[in-house]
Amino acid sequence: MNTDDLHVKLRAVFDEVMRRNPGEAEFHQAVYEVLTSLGPVVAKHPEYADTAVIRRLCEPERQIIFRVPWIDDSGIVQLNRGFRVEFNSALGPFKGGLRFHPSVYLGIVKFLGFEQIFKNSLTGLPIGGGKGGSDFDPKGRSNAEVMRFCQSFMTELYRHLGEYTDVPAGDIGVGMREIGYMFGQYKRITNRYESGVFTGKGLTWGGSQVRTEATGYGTVFFVDEILRSRGKSFDGKRAVVSGSGNVAIYAIEKIHELGGVVVGCSDSSGYVVDEKGIDLELLKEIKEVRRGRIAEYADARGGTTEFVSGGSVWDIPCDVALPCATQNELDGDAATELIKSGCKIVAEGANMPCTPAAVKLFADAGVTFAPGKAANAGGVATSGLEMQQNASRDSWTFEDTEARLAEIMGRIHDRCLTTADRYGQPGNYVAGANIAGFIRVADAMVALGLV
Ligand code: GLU
Repeated sequence: MNTDDLHVKLRAVFDEVMRRNPGEAEFHQAVYEVLTSLGPVVAKHPEYADTAVIRRLCEPERQIIFRVPWIDDSGIVQLNRGFRVEFNSALGPFKGGLRFHPSVYLGIVKFLGFEQIFKNSLTGLPIGGGKGGSDFDPKGRSNAEVMRFCQSFMTELYRHLGEYTDVPAGDIGVGMREIGYMFGQYKRITNRYESGVFTGKGLTWGGSQVRTEATGYGTVFFVDEILRSRGKSFDGKRAVVSGSGNVAIYAIEKIHELGGVVVGCSDSSGYVVDEKGIDLELLKEIKEVRRGRIAEYADARGGTTEFVSGGSVWDIPCDVALPCATQNELDGDAATELIKSGCKIVAEGANMPCTPAAVKLFADAGVTFAPGKAANAGGVATSGLEMQQNASRDSWTFEDTEARLAEIMGRIHDRCLTTADRYGQPGNYVAGANIAGFIRVADAMVALGLV
């Protein structure tokens, strides 16, 4: 990372972050990415740097690391590590998902928690930023094993949570099943049916309509706003979506509803090309019901559908690319390929899926790039709506909730553009998202004093 690009005051902040958080490459990357946008803000408002708001933003309010022992189906003791990084609560209770994946370590949780602060701020809702998870790998584990793990995880984490304190949700490896086991254990230990302590709950036990679909739908609504601001639409557009988990599936669903066609998606084993458009019912059956691999999709679909083992899904030509799998999945080579094949819009459904090299290539080539903080904020925004419903012991219809999600995505889009304009970078969604997200949380931090 070239710190010469940073405003001198921000360079000092970044040097300190590097020094205090050794070996946490993803966290460094996430901080650097935000700081590169804040130069014009510091130039206009030196008080943000002088009151150490930016320094304080880079230091989590609290970090919890704990042991998670559990017994597998063969009676063997397994050991994992649990994390919760409560990053910033200036705007509301800490809010952000839990990720269960073998790659999880403190640096990943911190990058996600840091991003979450700005994303949550951008939604305009009263939610702070946090993230957590474990290096537990749910793949290939039985329901009973997942339940025992979740119960052990929650037996420690419950004491740090609360509807006014810290409200987790899902992320990679954590869906409604896991939220159910964790919420159940929280309820048992505390003897409280505190619906607002988790989001992403099932519809019969305090969940919200549209929460399952929200991240994928929201990303597509965001792209639709970009297209509409240019007098265009999804109609007839070719799209490629990486991943085939919750975000990817519902992004595909909404693109098809809006008249586009998704011709490829992937998982960690490879990707499929389906020129007729992904058959969503089949994909859902394989991924949501069977928890199977993407190769099964090509086998079942037959015809011209092709499975490519390994390789890059970004080799498929498209107008719109939505990376919806995981961090740093779309690198400089993939970006070059997409630019060559004429891709016009890239929007991040996952958190930080594009490497800094890819983002730079997109900018240089005039490809519109929507960063995750803005484009995938629909998930957490709908979590905010779930909290509202829980607080009022109400539940809204699907149509109502989806309309509110679409409205929030529209507002985030406009906020990005207006802010980018105001700071002399018209059309730059990265600058717009970082600056708008930053200012709201920074102003709250100043107002709340040195805490
Ligand atoms: N994990 C999701 C995200 O990255 C959702 C967080 C939430 O709903 O709290 O934004």
